[in-house]
Amino acid sequence: MGIVAKGAKCNVEGCDQDGARSLNTTKVENAGLRVNSKGKKTILCKDHYKEWKKESKDDRELERARFNKF
Ligand SMILES: [Zn+2]
Repeated sequence: MGIVAKGAKCNVEGCDQDGARSLNTTKVENAGLRVNSKGKKTILCKDHYKEWKKESKDDRELERARFNKF
């Protein structure tokens, strides 16, 4: 997981904070975050990165997020 270059913005819908981390888009979506990234990588700001970490820490949460999608 890489640190984002200066000037990049968070890819979460409705968020325009500066990006802090870049993650695999699928992983972010599986954690239940809505992103507008079309690439394989999604940029997250500090807050959304924290949120993602919280959501992805528990595998059961991850499964539930997937289940709800289908
Ligand atoms: Zn954000």
